[in-house]
Amino acid sequence: MEYDDENIFAKILRGEIPCSKVHEDKWSLAFHDISPQTPIHILVVPKGRYVSIDDFSKNAGGEEIAGFFRAVGHVAREAGVSEKGYRILANHGRDAHQEVPHFHVHIFAGRDLGGMVRNTVK
Ligand code: 5GP
Repeated sequence: MEYDDENIFAKILRGEIPCSKVHEDKWSLAFHDISPQTPIHILVVPKGRYVSIDDFSKNAGGEEIAGFFRAVGHVAREAGVSEKGYRILANHGRDAHQEVPHFHVHIFAGRDLGGMVRNTVK
């Protein structure tokens, strides 16, 4: 899948639409999800043009990957959720219902998050 420069996170990164920013550094931007599914629901996106984890893990440079994942941990610590716990999640593709085709990690926290994957359909 080709990267689409008109996706919503690309527009946020270019400052064309607003976001509720919690962190920014050389490699990443983190902001609150517009439709939170847990009391704390933060998205961390790399600044580079990657469609998903599949693209990012294959094509991003080592420094970029390290910088991005350091930012994920930093954001969780800054949000104050490291002690009680949190979950990170990255959707890739159709089966995972990825909505926005710019790689992002969700940080879910702020309540007991239950089992890992909902077990309704096998
Ligand atoms: P995905 O299914 O692609 O992993 O998740 C995309 C996430 O982006 C969803 O949780 C959705 O609520 C969030 N989202 C979609 N549009 C916007 C937006 O314009 N601003 C913010 N902050 N989050 C968005």
